[in-house]
Amino acid sequence: MAMARPGVRLLAILGTSAIAILALRSAGAWQHPSTMGYDDTPMLPGGKWRVHDGKRPQPKKVKAAMCDAQDNPGLPPSDAVVLFDGKDLSKWRALKDAGPAQWKVENGYMEVAPGTGDIATRDDFGDIQLHVEWRTPAPLKPGNVWQGNSGVFLFGAYELQVFESSRNLIYADGEAGAIYGQYPPLVNPSCMPGEWQVYDILFTAPRFAGEELVTPPYVTVLQNGVAIHNHTAILGDTKHRELPRYVTRGSKGAIRLQDHGDLVRFRNIWVRPLRADDES
Ligand code: MG
Repeated sequence: MAMARPGVRLLAILGTSAIAILALRSAGAWQHPSTMGYDDTPMLPGGKWRVHDGKRPQPKKVKAAMCDAQDNPGLPPSDAVVLFDGKDLSKWRALKDAGPAQWKVENGYMEVAPGTGDIATRDDFGDIQLHVEWRTPAPLKPGNVWQGNSGVFLFGAYELQVFESSRNLIYADGEAGAIYGQYPPLVNPSCMPGEWQVYDILFTAPRFAGEELVTPPYVTVLQNGVAIHNHTAILGDTKHRELPRYVTRGSKGAIRLQDHGDLVRFRNIWVRPLRADDES
């Protein structure tokens, strides 16, 4: 049998599709977007929304940066709170006295200024998505195996370790990506000293009822695109050589970066407070 020419075949396909859509519409199975959804389906647990509920609010549209910057997937989306864009430390304070952060800023990054202490965000956050880019110093210092120590403290209390871990030279729960003193990362995807690395973090703040812990803090982390924690329940404030314990806090806490004396750099830090669509 002779093959139809490409143009004829395309028309035939389009015609078939149009007929299928018309058939669905006449059967009531296809609805215009303005009337999307159902009001006769079962109620989901919780009793607020039906399955495919037509009255359920649509998610807010957010512009993901990589739609316009295909080679830069780590840029902040439109609703992010930018904590550091490479220019200044106006969103940060010195932890010890709440004065201006003293770390160095140049060439689009900030760098730990040893001895000036940790810095913390001026604002507090609860449940968040957090993006942090960091790099450990290069070249390595000779004769000192523990290098590139810093950290990202979630809720002001729980350290996600920053470290030079391309060579596994410290105890497992002190490596880069560890919840310090509690959980090593699931794997070690560390880059080499001097190479930029990325943490993408989902953090759920703890819930307290008075002095009682109701739910612990949870964290999910990708390091350089690789999952290293999956909904890990943090055991309390991270400590050196001590057991963690939960300390009662409010619903929000600062994000804190550690001065451990090493010239670790950070860039492109942004956060998105997370809320369900039916929370105020
Ligand atoms: Mg540290």
